Amino acid sequence: MAIWIDGKKIAAEIRSEIAQRCESFYQKNGFRPGLAVILVGDDPASHIYVRNKKKACEECGFLSETIELGAQTTQKELEQLIDDLNADPRYHGILLQLPLPKHLDKKSLLNRIRPDKDVDAFHPVNVGHIMIGDYAFLPCTPAGCMELLRRTGIEVEGKRCVVIGRSDIVGKPMGMLLLHANGTVTICHSKTQNLAEITRQADILVSTVGKAGFVRADMVKPGVVVIDVGMNRNAEGKLVGDVLFEEVEPIASYITPVPGGVGPMTIAMLMQNTLTAAERAVAQK
Ligand code: NAP
Repeated sequence: MAIWIDGKKIAAEIRSEIAQRCESFYQKNGFRPGLAVILVGDDPASHIYVRNKKKACEECGFLSETIELGAQTTQKELEQLIDDLNADPRYHGILLQLPLPKHLDKKSLLNRIRPDKDVDAFHPVNVGHIMIGDYAFLPCTPAGCMELLRRTGIEVEGKRCVVIGRSDIVGKPMGMLLLHANGTVTICHSKTQNLAEITRQADILVSTVGKAGFVRADMVKPGVVVIDVGMNRNAEGKLVGDVLFEEVEPIASYITPVPGGVGPMTIAMLMQNTLTAAERAVAQK
């Protein structure tokens, strides 16, 4: 039976450490780190994520503002809002909640956020920093996975690491962070042939596919460490990961449950990035 990696507990520890750092920051500077979150439209899951982010900001002692806009908001209006927030010294971090309504150009809006306020680390400038291993911010979900490994005492160096999925926000940066930690990394995707043959070689397997029950027992080797990033609804509407837990858990050495694994870490890392942005803004004055 695998040891469950308790992301909920680890994320709470991180938020508590951030709250202490935030208090020192406030004592020293007389203002709080600020995060502005832009939410466009009425996607129910996005509303839940944004509410959780606001709660985490309150717990950490940050200034937070959620700007809720209707689904008909135009590209120009959003550009103006981002420009205003870029210039607003109260906010050190700006987050544009995804997905956006179809008529909006996501890429150009994300690229409009100033790199030093880009706490999601999606801007090409920050992506470039990640490539060369010289970064202020890391994308929250992959950073959360690395922190789970670190705080659980799982060594990456020299390990065979397999990431399933290559999205710009999860799979690719995840592979890069494992590489920076001296893992030997393979990134798989929908065109990968003989996927199970590759995943069976993994000492550390990270699944970022977005399909319930995708990773089965015949895809893993005994003792594997499994990090399940997927957040999917199964046929009963229950939140589940990519991994068929009851099959894989008995084979693995460590595993993240869903919910309560990677999810809470993503928000904890957002808090960390916001505090880092505020500390850097002060240092640059
Ligand atoms: P995405 O953009 O849809 O990427 C999915 C990736 O999976 C793609 O690279 C795709 O390959 C690959 N894939 C799909 N079918 C496959 C197959 N049969 N074999 C191998 N690879 C396959 O999704 P994402 O944004 O990275 O998110 C992935 C999952 O993580 C989702 O469930 C999402 O909800 C979850 N997520 C969780 C958190 C969290 O905080 N826990 C944060 C972000 C995302 P191609 O590139 O070839 O299409």
